[in-house]
Amino acid sequence: MAHLLLVEDDPLVRSALIRALTERGHAVTSASAGMQGLTRAVEDRPDLVVLDLGLPDLDGCEVLRMLRAVSAVPVIVATARDDEREIVRALDAGADDYVVKPFGGAQLDARIRAVLRRGREADNGMPPVTVGGLRVEPAAREATLDGVLLGLTPKEFDLLHYLAVRSGQVVTRRELLTEVWRMAYGGADKTVDVHLSWLRRKLGESAQRPRYLQTVHGVGVKLVDPGP
Ligand code: CA
Repeated sequence: MAHLLLVEDDPLVRSALIRALTERGHAVTSASAGMQGLTRAVEDRPDLVVLDLGLPDLDGCEVLRMLRAVSAVPVIVATARDDEREIVRALDAGADDYVVKPFGGAQLDARIRAVLRRGREADNGMPPVTVGGLRVEPAAREATLDGVLLGLTPKEFDLLHYLAVRSGQVVTRRELLTEVWRMAYGGADKTVDVHLSWLRRKLGESAQRPRYLQTVHGVGVKLVDPGP
């Protein structure tokens, strides 16, 4: 499952794709114009963006260039014409892949999975990390706590892995935004706090009774071995 942002102005196409992608297990948020899409991409920090190139307010490639200035989030563009020049322009502007309209949910889902898989290949060479009863395996993108598999979203996994590799060290929210969310800047850092609280819940702890995830007030957070 991935958190997707769909930027598409045609309401019929938009609702059909939201339905198709949701049925395939993704969480989908959407925007109907370029500026709104950019705002959403920065605020919601999705795992991947599906961007229609024909938008009412801004040229899709322009949206892509603006997005690339602040984020390395994977982007699949949707183009209305099988026009090689337009496709090349989008790839040059930083698109990771493209689909030509009309396309079905199955094809889009396959491309989404392929783009996300490519992003994960970088993890394959990384060794597993153990902190107390917590084990993080980058190659499998799985984490277990006391031998029990944790059902983590891609971002929760990335966050846990980043902290586990640096266990015992304080990591700032800013660093997490830059390194885990790959954002050059972020407005509200609420996203980090929200994901930390989700991760906490999955680790079976709370901010009031922390074990692995220790908040260092005014600085950031660190992952520690809580001991027996
Ligand atoms: Ca359109």
